[in-house]
Amino acid sequence: MKKSVARKILKIVGPQNFLTDPADLACYSYDASSISSLPKAVVMPVSTEEVSQILSLANQEGLAVSPRGAGTGTTGASVPIKGGLALCLARMNRIISINPKDLTALVEPGVVTGELQEEVSRYGLFYPPDPASMKFCTIGGNVATGAGGPRAVKYGVTRDYVMALEVVLSDGSVIHTGTKTAKGVVGYDLTRLLVGSEGTLGVVTGITLRLLPAPESDGTLIAFFPDTKSASNTVVSLFESRILPRCAEFLDKLSIGLISGQLPVAISERADAMLLIEVDGVQESIPRQLEAVKKSCRKCGATDIHVAKSKEQAKAFWSARQALAPSIRTLGFPDKINEDICVPRSCLPEIMSKLEKIGRKNQITILSFGHAGDGNLHVNLLLDLSNREEKLRGKAAVMEVMEATLALGGTISGEHGVGLTKRPFIQMEIDKKGLEIMKGIKKLFDPGNILNPGKVFP
Ligand SMILES: Cc1cc2nc3c(=O)[nH]c(=O)nc-3n(C[C@H](O)[C@H](O)[C@H](O)COP(=O)(O)OP(=O)(O)OC[C@H]3O[C@@H](n4cnc5c(N)ncnc54)[C@H](O)[C@@H]3O)c2cc1C
Repeated sequence: MKKSVARKILKIVGPQNFLTDPADLACYSYDASSISSLPKAVVMPVSTEEVSQILSLANQEGLAVSPRGAGTGTTGASVPIKGGLALCLARMNRIISINPKDLTALVEPGVVTGELQEEVSRYGLFYPPDPASMKFCTIGGNVATGAGGPRAVKYGVTRDYVMALEVVLSDGSVIHTGTKTAKGVVGYDLTRLLVGSEGTLGVVTGITLRLLPAPESDGTLIAFFPDTKSASNTVVSLFESRILPRCAEFLDKLSIGLISGQLPVAISERADAMLLIEVDGVQESIPRQLEAVKKSCRKCGATDIHVAKSKEQAKAFWSARQALAPSIRTLGFPDKINEDICVPRSCLPEIMSKLEKIGRKNQITILSFGHAGDGNLHVNLLLDLSNREEKLRGKAAVMEVMEATLALGGTISGEHGVGLTKRPFIQMEIDKKGLEIMKGIKKLFDPGNILNPGKVFP
């Protein structure tokens, strides 16, 4: 980066928010995908005006800008692969207002998702999107990836809660999309276009979110099954019985092994699959809903069912679930390819059986878990990529996972997005014309291609 440009950025954000020390750069060079690339500098603006000035300058200089929240993304989407600036929004972290009359909140992008949830709960309100990373990830990152979570099965994903956005475009201009009203149909829906755009169209600096009244009560249970088929059949059967759980999380045998020490219940040797199911609603409905869930579980072959006896026990079930993804590394495989496929819920039994076959055929260990209520599975291929032959088998297995998913009418990413890791597969899902339109939109928003260049498109 030219010294004159560095001086100008320094003047915009001040020395405490402009990092160039190699140790600092390393901290902003990677995300949870383990892909890494050093930026030339890290910039941490504290206002929309600063973001606007930075982008205007970067645009004039043709300097790449990679927006970043907490860096918990799993696809390399925030990794500054073209060097340039890592634009970290974490310091824009104010909850500006919570409006209990309109059921809305206005927040800056760096607000941590779990902190917003806690804050709105003080008002008896509820912000449902709950990515498992919510203790760390930011609302800005959630908006840019269209993040989901366990509760999406009943309440939808981040996209369903974003009412309006303030966005800085690549030339530094600021636009406002959407409305603060419950309805609004004036013009094209740029808000929905920007949600999930992975920092390639603009930098989100303000977000108006829809809130709900907090449900009166909830109930949680875990059920163990002798195989993945009976667990996935249970998920389908729940919906057939017109039960709408707020979460229905699936864990396979390897996943159960990883969290068993943290679960406050005994686990049978025969447990090859687990469901963590939660219901909510008015107090009186909870025992009835849990009874109906138990009935479906038993009908499909559950061997053990444990209803949480207290809030603490339910919390322990969830803490174990949230600890799962990070603990996969402890299995000792040097590498992990993490896919987050999603199929129509009724196809869950079929995709699970296909995953098992793909693993066996390619001799790759596959660990699967995820938001089964949505048909969304995190498929982790565990392998050693330094072994050439194993790498080739892994590559073949990934391709087969994608093909099997699409053949069932699914999508190659239910919530993590494309970023870098899924770029090679986007053409399998989006047709040529659709991709052309998307690239045209990117060009319109960012003619100089400075915003997160190299991401999403192959
Ligand atoms: C243990 C673990 C569990 C996870 N569980 C889930 C889950 O249940 N559901 C789920 O959906 N995801 C999950 N994820 C993935 C990840 O947490 C989400 O994608 C999250 O939304 C990323 O937020 P972040 O703040 O870390 O964003 P980052 O990783 O920093 O960035 C993600 C993308 O958003 C862009 N971006 C960030 N902020 C802005 C902004 N203000 N304006 C424009 N673009 C921006 C970046 O350029 C990048 O493209 C998990 C990750 C981990 C490590």
